[in-house]
Amino acid sequence: MGMTAALFDSHMHTPLCGHATGAPREYAQAALDAGLAGICFTDHMPMPAWYDAPWRMRRDQLAQYVADVQDVQAEFAGRLEVRLGLEADFHPGTERFVEEVLGAHPWDYVIGSIHYIGAWGFDNPEFIAEYDSRDLGGLYRDYYALAEGAAKSGLFDSIGHLDLPKKFGHRDPDGYAALHALDVIAERGLSLDFNTAGWRKPVQEAYPAPDLTRAAAERGIPFVLGSDAHKPDEVGYHFTDAIKQIHDVGGRIVSYQERVRHG
Ligand SMILES: [Zn+2]
Ligand SMILES: [Zn+2]
Repeated sequence: MGMTAALFDSHMHTPLCGHATGAPREYAQAALDAGLAGICFTDHMPMPAWYDAPWRMRRDQLAQYVADVQDVQAEFAGRLEVRLGLEADFHPGTERFVEEVLGAHPWDYVIGSIHYIGAWGFDNPEFIAEYDSRDLGGLYRDYYALAEGAAKSGLFDSIGHLDLPKKFGHRDPDGYAALHALDVIAERGLSLDFNTAGWRKPVQEAYPAPDLTRAAAERGIPFVLGSDAHKPDEVGYHFTDAIKQIHDVGGRIVSYQERVRHG
């Protein structure tokens, strides 16, 4: 890929979440083959049983997840830095549960993502028709209010795939709520998950969009590169384009170890 800096892919999954394929060691091998310096596994964390259960590991699988990642760490020691993280969900009412899980192991990096507005899983292709019965401006205002809640919760290191409701092409009609959320994210010292999965979706654009990448960089918010790989061959996906989009606006790329920002 022609990448020289010590790059990490800090967003990837394992089969424990029920919708990713490939053994964790295959993700590590793919990263090594792509010339990356390291990876951070960030599988979908356990949540209360009533919340989105089919799309994540159960609480009683958490120790297995940690052991799986530690096996890969040992296998690739000296060749690839392998870190242990989580993609957490921010959903009001679940904060205490999330806090317990985050306290259960020494994580390197925790992404806070919003996948639900109320009971609607808005990034699930099954429920895409709901966009037609919503006011898009209102939808984005509700979404970014949740992103601000995630930033203020103090639970997370970064906000996941910032402008996710655009996934199927429903773009934000104004953008003010996004800028306000970026103010809060900057104030609270969080980073943004620069998530290249958007280039695999109908919107054909990374999260965040170029204008939001610029707005984030202007506020001093750094970016954590992530492919959101759900299979090994997605590791490092479109990283050359990602680096260009970030550097074009003077943005900074970082990674996390023991929940401390580096780079
Ligand atoms: Zn997933
Ligand atoms: Zn993810």
